[in-house]
Amino acid sequence: MITVLGCVVNEHNIWLVLVAAMVCAFGSWAVICLFERAARTKGMQRAGWHFLTAVAAGAGIWCTHFIAMLAYEPGAPVTFDPVLTILSLLIAIVGTGAGSVFAASGLTRFAPALGGAITGMAIAVMHYTGMMAYRVQGTIGWDMGYLIASIVLSVGLSAAAFHLVMRKSSRGHRYMSASVLLLAIVTLHFTGMTAFQVTPMLIDDGFSNPAAMQALALAVAIVALVIVGAGLASYLIDDSARSESLDRLRHMALNDTLTGLPNRASFADRLDHEIDLASETGGKVVLIGIDLNKFKDVNDLRGHGVGDMMLRVLGERLFGLTKEGEFVARTGGDEFAAVQRYVDQATLEDFLDRLEEALFAPIVGHDFEIIPGASLGVAFYPDNADSREILINNADLAMYRAKANVAHNVCYYDQSMDDVVRARRTLANDLRAAIENNELDVYYQVQTSISTNQIRGFEALLRWKHPEHGFIPPSDFIPLAEENGLILQLGEWVLREACARAASWKPPYKVAVNLSPAQFVHADLTKLIIEVLMATGLPANRLELELTESTIFQDKERSFSVLRQIKALGVNIALDDFGTGYSSLEMLRSFPFDKIKLDRSFISEAEESLQAKSIIRAVLALGKSLDIPILAEGIETEGQLSLLGDEGCDEAQGYLLGRPIPIEQLLETGKISLIEAGAGRQLPRPGQSALVADGDQDQTSRTA
Ligand code: C2E
Ligand code: CA
Ligand code: CA
Repeated sequence: MITVLGCVVNEHNIWLVLVAAMVCAFGSWAVICLFERAARTKGMQRAGWHFLTAVAAGAGIWCTHFIAMLAYEPGAPVTFDPVLTILSLLIAIVGTGAGSVFAASGLTRFAPALGGAITGMAIAVMHYTGMMAYRVQGTIGWDMGYLIASIVLSVGLSAAAFHLVMRKSSRGHRYMSASVLLLAIVTLHFTGMTAFQVTPMLIDDGFSNPAAMQALALAVAIVALVIVGAGLASYLIDDSARSESLDRLRHMALNDTLTGLPNRASFADRLDHEIDLASETGGKVVLIGIDLNKFKDVNDLRGHGVGDMMLRVLGERLFGLTKEGEFVARTGGDEFAAVQRYVDQATLEDFLDRLEEALFAPIVGHDFEIIPGASLGVAFYPDNADSREILINNADLAMYRAKANVAHNVCYYDQSMDDVVRARRTLANDLRAAIENNELDVYYQVQTSISTNQIRGFEALLRWKHPEHGFIPPSDFIPLAEENGLILQLGEWVLREACARAASWKPPYKVAVNLSPAQFVHADLTKLIIEVLMATGLPANRLELELTESTIFQDKERSFSVLRQIKALGVNIALDDFGTGYSSLEMLRSFPFDKIKLDRSFISEAEESLQAKSIIRAVLALGKSLDIPILAEGIETEGQLSLLGDEGCDEAQGYLLGRPIPIEQLLETGKISLIEAGAGRQLPRPGQSALVADGDQDQTSRTA
């Protein structure tokens, strides 16, 4: 037999005391969890959690008290006043509810502790109301010292428990504060029972039946456990729903939504981790930059649905092929990256083989089959780079090399690639300087009617004579200018220069100017053209703009609307390099082009290849039926010219008829002369003078 602060614990009631302790511990844990949830939610949810806190706390605390009461053996028969007993339960529920609401209110910094104190007070009041319901045959006395101590302990410890849980949301804090709350309830009870002294006086017997009392205690314990358990179950369900949605959010933040592969952000993290690991262990990391070949074409020709489907299929294949120490991420639209912890060359080659297999295997839809294909660039850490950025950069360089190389899909980074990049960067700077130093010039190539042999116009072709490297072909520097955003400036300069020159030509031939996609997309092209025409005085119908199908394809809707605006000015629109791009009938039907320029690749093969000849014939027939004149580019021989003449081609352009030459040389040939100064341009009307650039006026007087 043990005596705990006045409570007698013996073999009859030990299990009841244990049950009470369990209900109390379990209840405290539930109260803290539920209260915390209430404090961290809002509105109706918060009210719901408060309700659950109050019910679980009230039931748990009251049941603990009641079971312990039943286990208490005063040595005399016992009974309970029903009204006061029920009242004590209500006090427990309402009191802890009020405490919980106040503690979570955020009214003051001390709200949690004050709310806890209210709860502690409620526990004490519940306990003593319950004691008043306790009827025993004997005289009852109270030790005021213990009584006050019990209230102070209950209030103080409850305040501490609520204060603790509001300080930080962690499992450790929850355990700690549940323990303190448990301590508050237990100490209140035991100190309170020590204050309670019964002197038994047997008035009659058979007043209380211990077996019935124990059965009642068990029933109360079960009800308490059910109530507390229900509260805790709601908490756990909510918790797992919460963590599921958090997991989903985390997945969304770290993975690409289309393919499910890790995205750029998590790729960077994982690559950093691999790099750290390699530097700690002295190992190596292989980074493989992957770029799909012609993905844009798939999107353009088959629509974004098929493009997305292709990415999804590739994503699945790439995800499925990785082994230990490898991962693949989607780092951009049609870009992926693969990482391997380097073991040896054979393992790397095996990885590359698997990647190639996944990237090149056909994708079959219900009415199409696509062979995807990609370019892969390989770089090593630390051999090729000492940081993540440089490693990515070098894998990209190798990947671009692979892209430019028709024979190989995979390229390994080497130092010379840096040199190429450096050379290009220097060239870009030189180009920038060339624009400022007037090193650029426009050459003109004649366009002739095949049937009459008469000149129709001239195509303006940009030339750059580099002070060191001599002439640099436009096929080299135009893409460079496009990459560096210099193309807008260059394009505007060519347009202005060509129009200004052509304005003073006699006879008034047309001038054709090439447009780059960037000019077409970015600049307010219509406005620029109006401004240049007004400034140079060139009539709109003498200007022809040449653009390729791919330029238009980038944004068909917008392109056609811009083209319509330009055409409405009277400017002609020619479709350049026809036959090399999409050559879609749809394109020809959607817009009334003024000319189709058949690409020179067909002409050079026309005399030998039957296939080329039949394509020429087909394009000419198409031109006839759509009523669009066809110009054949790249005529170099008499044979080609007469063949095209026989087939009914309208115009020709090529070295045979005239190479691109500078304006001075063109004037010397006598094919054109200049009209008198100023006559070719309208004098700016008042208010328009701002449109005339100073440089323009100089040029006009120079040409005159
Ligand atoms: P393109 O518009 O197809 O221009 C025709 C190209 O074919 C010119 O090359 C011209 O010199 C060349 N060519 C003409 N006749 C013959 C021939 O009989 N045989 C052969 N083999 N070639 C011939 P170029 O001047 O080197 O220009 C290359 C490309 O650069 C042009 O192709 C055009 O796309 C671009 N380009 C040139 N100037 C400009 C410009 O001012 N702006 C823009 N955006 N692009 C330009
Ligand atoms: Ca052209
Ligand atoms: Ca062309």
